[in-house]
Amino acid sequence: MIDLNKEITRNGIDKELETLEIVLAAKIGRTALTLEEYVQMRLSQGATLEIIRADLIVDLKEGGRIFGEFKNALQPTFAGSVNRFRDIGELAETGISATYRWVAVLVNTCPDCIERHNQIKRWEEWEEEGLPRSGATVCGQNCKCILVSAEAVELQPIKRG
Ligand SMILES: [Zn+2]
Repeated sequence: MIDLNKEITRNGIDKELETLEIVLAAKIGRTALTLEEYVQMRLSQGATLEIIRADLIVDLKEGGRIFGEFKNALQPTFAGSVNRFRDIGELAETGISATYRWVAVLVNTCPDCIERHNQIKRWEEWEEEGLPRSGATVCGQNCKCILVSAEAVELQPIKRG
């Protein structure tokens, strides 16, 4: 049982790191392109490399147009990643054969997640349908939903008026 938990954790972490690597590479690639365009534009306007360099350092420090965008783009990626690590922990602890309840936060929840809220399925079934933050719901990386062991207390849907 402990070995199985370790394996689930190890596989989950490997998969997550792989995903992060791909996402980060894409975002760094985009920032590099923006950076290159920016430098070319400034050079064509007659700015010296020293001036451009100084401006870029300010942009980096203050989260300006170029690096600020990069930082903003990473935030949901890391938030999603932390929550997926939490899911891996839950899976390792509860086991693959148990059933899991989809729990939405119900604040600014997307229609896809509202529909899934309180549904119970086996982990594999959820994996097939798309785990939270896997891109299966319109909220994507911003999804705050979690899968909890269905053994846990039944949740009543919150009515909002
Ligand atoms: Zn969600």
